[in-house]
Parts: sequence; C-alpha cells; structure tokens
Amino acid sequence: MIDQWGRSVDYLRISITDRCNLRCKYCMPKNSVRFMPKEDLLTIDEIFRVAKLTSELGVKKIRITGGEPLVREGIIELIRDIKALENIEEVCMTTNGILLEENLERLISAGLDRVNISLDTLDETLFREITGGGDIKPVLRAVERCVEKGLKVKLNTVLMKNYNEKEILEFIKLTERYPIDVRFIEMMPIGAGKAFRSVTTDQAIALISEEFQLLHCESGNNNDGPACYYKTEKGLGKIGFISPMSHSFCRSCNRIRLTAEGFLKQCLHWKKGKNLETLMRHGISDEDLIKVIEECIYLKPYEHGFLENSLSSSSDKRNMFQIGG
Ligand code: SAM
Ligand code: SF4
Repeated sequence: MIDQWGRSVDYLRISITDRCNLRCKYCMPKNSVRFMPKEDLLTIDEIFRVAKLTSELGVKKIRITGGEPLVREGIIELIRDIKALENIEEVCMTTNGILLEENLERLISAGLDRVNISLDTLDETLFREITGGGDIKPVLRAVERCVEKGLKVKLNTVLMKNYNEKEILEFIKLTERYPIDVRFIEMMPIGAGKAFRSVTTDQAIALISEEFQLLHCESGNNNDGPACYYKTEKGLGKIGFISPMSHSFCRSCNRIRLTAEGFLKQCLHWKKGKNLETLMRHGISDEDLIKVIEECIYLKPYEHGFLENSLSSSSDKRNMFQIGG
C-alpha cells in the first residue's frame, strides 16, 4: 500500500497492552502511570482482525509490542494466527525480556521470527534503578537462550546522559562475543522521556571510534526501517543507530501503529489516525473497515515534528507504553 508521499507501507506495530511488569524511569515512572480500563483494550480477536485486514492491504511484517507484550494473555495464539496469514512474511516482538525465557519454546513454536530485547545497561544495580526494581538476570539468561535456539535477537539500548553512556563500549564488545545486533536509540521527548538527556548518535559514534573502527554495513533485513548499521572488524553482530532526533528517518517511513486501545496511528508523533475500536464495536463490516484503514494509511503525514512541535495541540500526548515504541 502506497501513502500520499509515495512511500510503501508494509509494516504494522501493534501494542497489545499498556500494562508492564517494569517501571522504566523514562517510560512508566512509578506512581505516575494510569492504565486504561481493561475493557478499553482491544481484545485478541479484534487485534487479529486488524492484522488480517492490514495484511490484505500489503502489510508483510508485524511487530507485537506493548507495554510488555508477554504479560498479555493470548499472545502465543495471536502470534500463531498472525504468522499463518497468507501475506505475512515476518512476526517479531519487542520485549523487556523478563518473561522471555519461560515463554521461549512456545513463542518459537508459534512462529516468532525475531525478537528485540530492550536492555539499557548490563549492570545489575543500574538496571534495577532504571527499571524501577527489575532483575537483570532473567533478561541476560533469555538473551543467551535465544542465541542457543538460533532466534534472531537485537538489543535495543536507549542512550541517556549520566546513566548508560559509559557502557557503550561494553555493548560493542557484546557484538564481538555473540551474533546479536545492538541498536543505540536516541531518547525521544515522549512522556517521561522528556526529562532525560539523550546521547546523540554522533556523540556515540565519536566515543566508539576512539577504540573501534566502525565499518558501514547493510542491515541484512530490507524491512528494517530507520537504523543505520555498522560492524567492528571482529563483530559477529551489527551495531545500529536509530536517530529520530538528530537524523530524521521519516523519508523512508514504512510503518503504521495500532495502540492498545485500537487507535490506528499514522505517525509516532502526531495524534492523527483512526479509532478502529469504536468502529469495530459498532459493528462495521470488514469491507468498510478495510476502506477506513486504507484511507488512514494513505494520509500518513510526511514527518514527525518532535523538534519543532512537541507542545503543539496536534502532537500526541500518549505515552510510549501506550503506543508501543
Ligand atoms: N516493554 C517492551 C520493551 O521495553 O521492550 C516493549 C514496549 S517499550 C515502550 C518499546 C521500546 O520503547 C523500548 O525499547 C523502550 O526502551 C523504548 N522507549 C520508551 N520510551 C522511550 C523514549 N522516550 N524514547 C525512546 N525510546 C523509548
Ligand atoms: Fe515497560 Fe518497556 Fe516501558 Fe520499560 S520501556 S516500562 S519495559 S513498556
């Protein structure tokens, strides 16, 4: 499906819950989150319906995210059913990894193709601090288990000044020890993230280049979107940089997002989109729903406006845990 700017949109990210078993400082700080009533979350059947219709419009890759997707009942069956859709080539998940090891066999059997694990630090104490009390051990075990099982893994690391910038080189060394990709992400001014200072991609590259020569490479996955990839000479995995703030990637944006309450979002930043939940709960037919989705995709805005417009009335006030990242 092509949008009004000529971009091919073939990637849907679905937040299947706004709940989470961690309380990351920049996402869901303790005592300040309010979850939506359970009945407002899309049901698993409603999520599947949207996934199926978007796949008929050309979506080939679906990512399951949240909140924490592994706290939502029915995720395994959802992944299995989405994976069985005719046009779907890849089903992926973004998770904090806490419940990953115990669900890994079932996820792989259901057809999960790859997993992104969010890990901002390798230090047990700092992990506890950033995540509001989380235990890093099951996450590290899950990373190892994925590698053993041959499931493709990427680590997502949001870089924050005065928190994890001193660990950047440790993450680079990980890509020389394991065949896993590490992606450094600039903090976006969304929700509690506004209070943090990001390390920019250029700053991170300068720091890494003092010790390693970074060789430019392709992602190896042509549906991979905004990351720019490198490798060290001895690297088994790649090093990616996602730079929404310093190097806008909107020109090649190929994605739409479905929030936990069923809002089809045209762009991470803007409020624009369509409330599919209301339409579905009022009995819209598949034929009409597909037209609504088609129009919504077509009207994707050209770019986000994080730098100029973060306070404007048309920017979205949702938090990242409601959108899914
Ligand atoms: N709970 C899962 C996890 O943490 O992987 C999935 C949902 S979480 C909202 C998805 C990603 O968004 C995580 O990698 C998290 O670090 C990232 N994130 C949250 N707030 C952010 C912000 N303000 N800027 C950049 N990334 C953010
Ligand atoms: Fe939960 Fe993910 Fe947000 Fe952390 S980043 S609080 S793990 S949703």
